[in-house]
Amino acid sequence: MYYIDPHIHMVSRTTDDYETLAKMGCVALSEPAFWAGFDRGSAESFRDYFRQLTEVEPKRAAQYGIQHFTWLCINAKEAENVTLSREVIALIPDFLDCPNVLGIGEIGLNKNTKNEATIFAEHLELAVKYEQQILIHTPHLEDKYQGTRMILDMLCDDSRIDRSRVLVDHVEEHTVRHVLEEGFWAGMTLYPVTKCTPQRACDIIEMYGPERLMANSAGDWGPSKPTAIPDLILEMRRRGHPESLIRKVVYENAIEFFSQSQGFNFKAPDANETAASS
Ligand SMILES: [Zn+2]
Repeated sequence: MYYIDPHIHMVSRTTDDYETLAKMGCVALSEPAFWAGFDRGSAESFRDYFRQLTEVEPKRAAQYGIQHFTWLCINAKEAENVTLSREVIALIPDFLDCPNVLGIGEIGLNKNTKNEATIFAEHLELAVKYEQQILIHTPHLEDKYQGTRMILDMLCDDSRIDRSRVLVDHVEEHTVRHVLEEGFWAGMTLYPVTKCTPQRACDIIEMYGPERLMANSAGDWGPSKPTAIPDLILEMRRRGHPESLIRKVVYENAIEFFSQSQGFNFKAPDANETAASS
């Protein structure tokens, strides 16, 4: 089955990982800008990072037939440095017309601090000004519920924001309902530590249905599994879910959500076959 990973940090992965993903059916992925595992020292290092996301990774992915899309921002962890964050936000418009850019992300909160909230709000201004889609990181573990609530409140207070163009990631059992009920898209991150397992994600799909719900691996520099979506596919099959439902969650929903962005020039691998047979 073809699938799309809507949230994976390929700059941290090897070329062998691209090959493995391709063999498992991954045909496209989207890579939000995030924390590198250390705090960067200047805005210029973000300029280089944005070049990596818009120039280097699409080429690396294309070698394996995978289409690479990306999102730009300064992440919530480094947003604690407000001066640096504003310098980085000022760089972003230079990159918004790059052909693989889908929007602003992953923005959000980490420890739910005042500085993080300030920079989150300034990213929202940027997204509104340039009519960009938004991808949101919600905090982990003990900070998740409160952080998600703060994020949803800030989004819902701003009538300029189109909720159907916002994806709220790292949802779990205690946050997913709020995200979906407010009209946003929700992403479940399948991760060996913190976050969600394929079994829990399958439970959530059974409880809430597949509308506006996606799954991702977040595959990054930490302990993570870039092939976590095939694990979810296997778990859904094991429980007897129809292929049409699985395909909606791991493929069609991503296409529907990303298609709202001008940068999503996705070509489905079976598009010609479908056209020929219909
Ligand atoms: Zn991430």
